[in-house]
Amino acid sequence: MIGKNSWEKGMCTIELTGRQEQIVQIVKANSPITGERIASLLNVRRATLRPDLSILTMSGLLGARPRVGYFYSGKRPGLLAADAVRRLTVDVVKAVPVVVREGTSVYDCIVALFTEDTGTLFVVGESGHLEGVASRKDLLKVAMGKDNLRRIPVQVMMTRAPNIVTVRGDESVYEAVRRLVEHEIDALPVVEQETVDGRDVLKVTGRFTKTTVASIFLELGE
Ligand code: ADP
Repeated sequence: MIGKNSWEKGMCTIELTGRQEQIVQIVKANSPITGERIASLLNVRRATLRPDLSILTMSGLLGARPRVGYFYSGKRPGLLAADAVRRLTVDVVKAVPVVVREGTSVYDCIVALFTEDTGTLFVVGESGHLEGVASRKDLLKVAMGKDNLRRIPVQVMMTRAPNIVTVRGDESVYEAVRRLVEHEIDALPVVEQETVDGRDVLKVTGRFTKTTVASIFLELGE
């Protein structure tokens, strides 16, 4: 597992070129300073600096005010990635949930892991609301040494509501990942609260898994 610090460091580091580093030092020492002035101190044309200045302002390391100039923000570079995971909502990245009905046999659940290519099943009741979660190890545990898997229902081993950790679609990806890590689990059902027959139930609208996190990470890297 990646340690918290190295992860944080990895997410917040951008490589600056020699010239970008020089610009940062100049701005740090002379805030606020115009682009023209930076260019003259570096003996280059203003236009030459444009790409570097955009990178430095986009990364949040430098701030820019019209008619005033550039100033050093003191923000760590790479906050773009951090901002992205806080602003991105679960609904944008969630996958289709893999659900089984309560009463499905352990045997059929194991088959579903293969056919649906997932590691976690969400167990739903008659009206489709969330009743439980069955992980691959939950299924393995009950499967060991038993030969009547077709007759054992999934409820025997699933983690039951209300002990299920969930996420809403409008919550941030940051929050979802925090829950996965804090509870040491692989998947969260993405849910919406509903009232059925006067009872509050959770409708499953998606799944947010460690694979989702890997895809987001890849996209941010690109
Ligand atoms: P595995 O058991 O295959 O390593 P997990 O780490 O996801 O997979 O699951 C560990 C335990 O936590 C299992 O008993 C499982 O039922 C339970 N679990 C998994 N996901 C959730 C969830 N979203 N909320 C509550 N419990 C969960």
